[in-house]
Amino acid sequence: MWRRARRRRAHDRGERARLLRRFASVVDAAAEELALLEVRQAGHPLGNARWEAGNVRDLLDYAAGGVERLTGRQIPVAGGLDVTFHEPLGTVAVIAPWNFPMPVAAWGTAPALAAGNAVLLKPAETTPLTALRLAELALDAGLPEGLFQVLPGAGPVTGTALVDHPGVAKVVFTGSTAVGRSIMARCAARVKRVTLELGGKSPNIVFADADIERAAATAPGAFLDNTGQDCCARSRILVQRTVYDRFLALLEPAVRAVRAGDPADPATAMGPLISAAQRERVRSYVTEDAPAAIRGEVPAGKGYWYPATVLESHAAGDRAAVEEIFGPVAVVTPFEDEDEAVRLANAGEYGLSGSIWTRDVGRAVRVARGVAAGNLSVNSHSSVRYTTPFGGFKQSGLGRELGPDALAAFTETKNVFLDTGH
Ligand code: NAD
Repeated sequence: MWRRARRRRAHDRGERARLLRRFASVVDAAAEELALLEVRQAGHPLGNARWEAGNVRDLLDYAAGGVERLTGRQIPVAGGLDVTFHEPLGTVAVIAPWNFPMPVAAWGTAPALAAGNAVLLKPAETTPLTALRLAELALDAGLPEGLFQVLPGAGPVTGTALVDHPGVAKVVFTGSTAVGRSIMARCAARVKRVTLELGGKSPNIVFADADIERAAATAPGAFLDNTGQDCCARSRILVQRTVYDRFLALLEPAVRAVRAGDPADPATAMGPLISAAQRERVRSYVTEDAPAAIRGEVPAGKGYWYPATVLESHAAGDRAAVEEIFGPVAVVTPFEDEDEAVRLANAGEYGLSGSIWTRDVGRAVRVARGVAAGNLSVNSHSSVRYTTPFGGFKQSGLGRELGPDALAAFTETKNVFLDTGH
């Protein structure tokens, strides 16, 4: 009897939605604490970290709104009634990177829970603290014990164990393309569901007819946010040749104005890199053959600091212009016309996001349709809203997260036909 009551409760969508809303309010009440924890563990500027904690709350709220709207369909068929159900998958493993520990964890976790699954979250080795705190807050909110668990550990050990475990029905992986490829191969062995959010090398395309002042003023934020450790960083700036020199002249003061400093100071715009290894990786792209055209300043003291850097590249295939650097480095390249802009934007293995600056509406639409990337913005650098779909073309990923269909990605569609007789 009690079993049946428990089962009924588990299927009670209203109750599930209420629990997620409560989780959202508990996160809201702890937002400052979570933000400060992120400042300490990842060196994110406080303003960014506050936004990130708020993003977790908003995702939980948004997913809660979807619980009771996740409906199947009734499809007209001969001889009976046909209905579809969105069945939960079971247990979902969410493997998160260190660059946005809180938002990325929540992008997978919130809709997976809302669709009726259990979640095992594996945070990155360097950033487990906010994930662990979120799991405690879930219990405070009244989520049943075990429904959302955090398993910190090394990628090749804990991550692999989750990917291979027969009890895990789906893997949501956000991280590097190399690891994503290997996870996809392992999932293939069991035909396991997988969503991949991988790397990027996104273009910021500036046409001569654009508001050049605004394009130059906003370009630094688009590649320096989170010290460039952002999969959507617009780190390839493509500028039409007729305005190239003017754009660079405007870009220089804008880059130099980005304030790097103590992440705990709310006025700071750029913090240090995550680790010494990441700094070495970034350094390897700025060689004597590729001297910086623009260089910002960073504090001299403690922290893995690396200054904002702009390189010029006129040759196709430059390593810095092709590979994801994941640091505060952008490469500027001139182009002649719309065709060349699209061709340059589409070069390479990635296709995550991009920006298009133009006053010509027709061109904005043509180029947006021509660029093979999942998230484009015109006269802005916005990529990620929890209400709109997010994900990559080509080797930037597989599947979509966020937006109105986020919950459906954590379900199987079941079709049921009922014979109504003749
Ligand atoms: P990473 O691939 O090294 O690690 C990501 C996560 O995978 C970590 O939790 C890690 O422990 C785990 N992992 C590592 N090896 C594993 C294995 N063999 N099996 C299972 N799990 C394993 O990536 P990173 O350096 O932490 O993050 C940076 C990368 O993430 C960048 O390439 C960036 O573009 C990408 N990223 C993409 C998005 C997106 O939405 N597309 C968002 C954020 C970051």
